[in-house]
Amino acid sequence: MVDSQEKPHAIFIPYPLQGHVIPSVHLAIKLASRGFTITFINTHSVHHKTSKAQHGGDTDIFSTVRRQSGLDIRYTTVSDGLPVEFDRSLNHDQFMAALLHIFSAHVEEVVAEIVKKGPPVSFLIADTFFVWPSKVAKKFGLKYVSFWTEPALVFTLYYHMDLLRKNGHFGCLDAREDPIDYIPGVRSIDPKDMTSYLQESDTSTVCHQINFNAFNDVRGADFVLCNTVQEHEPDTISALQSKMPFYAIGPIFPTGFTKSIVATSLWSESDCTQWLNTKPPGSVLYVSFGSYAHVAKNDLHEIAHGLLLSKVSFIWVLRPDIVSSDDTDPLPVGFKEDIGDRAMIIPWCCQIQALAHPSIGGFLTHNGWNSTLESIWCQVPLLCCPLYTDQFTNRKLVVDDLKVGINLCDKRPITRMEVSEKINRLMSGKSKDTLKKAIKDVKKTFENALTKGGSSETNFDRFIKDLKASIE
Ligand code: UDP
Repeated sequence: MVDSQEKPHAIFIPYPLQGHVIPSVHLAIKLASRGFTITFINTHSVHHKTSKAQHGGDTDIFSTVRRQSGLDIRYTTVSDGLPVEFDRSLNHDQFMAALLHIFSAHVEEVVAEIVKKGPPVSFLIADTFFVWPSKVAKKFGLKYVSFWTEPALVFTLYYHMDLLRKNGHFGCLDAREDPIDYIPGVRSIDPKDMTSYLQESDTSTVCHQINFNAFNDVRGADFVLCNTVQEHEPDTISALQSKMPFYAIGPIFPTGFTKSIVATSLWSESDCTQWLNTKPPGSVLYVSFGSYAHVAKNDLHEIAHGLLLSKVSFIWVLRPDIVSSDDTDPLPVGFKEDIGDRAMIIPWCCQIQALAHPSIGGFLTHNGWNSTLESIWCQVPLLCCPLYTDQFTNRKLVVDDLKVGINLCDKRPITRMEVSEKINRLMSGKSKDTLKKAIKDVKKTFENALTKGGSSETNFDRFIKDLKASIE
């Protein structure tokens, strides 16, 4: 029970990956602006990277927001169990194993300190992919709010893993093509459109263990918040609502197209605005595979040659570890000379700002969910090249359901001819006009959802009311 004068206090722990930290920061700000005290906890590693990306900038990422808006967001850090300098991208399995086996002990220590110090804590908000939140919340007498940063469709597939197993669709990569039509709220989905972990048959990997354990743990959640829009997944969401308090509150990002005042980037952002200013409207393709995925070197070379053949101008966000951390230049020999001023290759940028630039006319993407939402928000049609995890399911939503993108090489391998041909289909002609019209309509539903009385705002209000009522 909280004193009625006291602000409700929530501890917020994002998953320590770029695509989870960004929406978590914005959700934390949204909650704080509705009168919550938030204690936001990044891992030492994420904190170190965001500080380094800002050249040692602010040690407290929320200090500007606090100063400018008076919001009560406190900030601290916790060890994920590995040394800060450990290369988590190169040693992905060890990183995941630390999150699976070691992280919760560190979290418990920090939560215990915060609870002891006060102000009194009522809620734990944590990413659905963690395997421990409902247990930790219970231990400290907190309500657990699970934050799902992907579409409801992906959530429900994981949630019904047992049903998939019973019907022989679990781990059926290349073995079954018949559609899955028995998941509550999902009319039909092809096995190839499931998240990659549900397609793979080797369940001994650490990522599989995380998924199994996380989706067991989420059954103990008091509330689930999902970064989606109700109008686009109504049946899936209502089927989930019959099982748990599930709220679609997306899209979660600053709707202003500008740089976030909270430092969330794990890499230094290059400025591409000046260069984009020199290009005609809608003429530039933005290419990025997000923060996490690796691309096979051969595929990367085919994409590079396809970009050259297409004759289109482009910005390519090429993370230093896109192929593997010890490959210093993954591009084909002579590529940079061949592109001249037609392209800009950068390690990282402020994506939402780039996508919002009038010169951008298309996005060659891996279909990370944040990238997908941002692209729709900026009305930039997508060329979809999913690589793994939820990206296959996101592709289905984008291409088959919302019709705001086209497929690239859904039959592997990726070829330069197809890359070039699809880029031109995305960026010019009748197909471009059709996509542009569709994306304008979807953007409108996003805007409506976020205005007062719209679905996401109404769901968010309802969530806050239910959350407060849960501790009265
Ligand atoms: N992003 C960015 N700059 C870049 C590339 C990506 O700020 O150069 C951001 C992007 O705006 C998105 C996030 O990183 O918010 C990536 O999340 P997403 O879910 O799209 O993909 P993931 O990285 O999780 O695979």
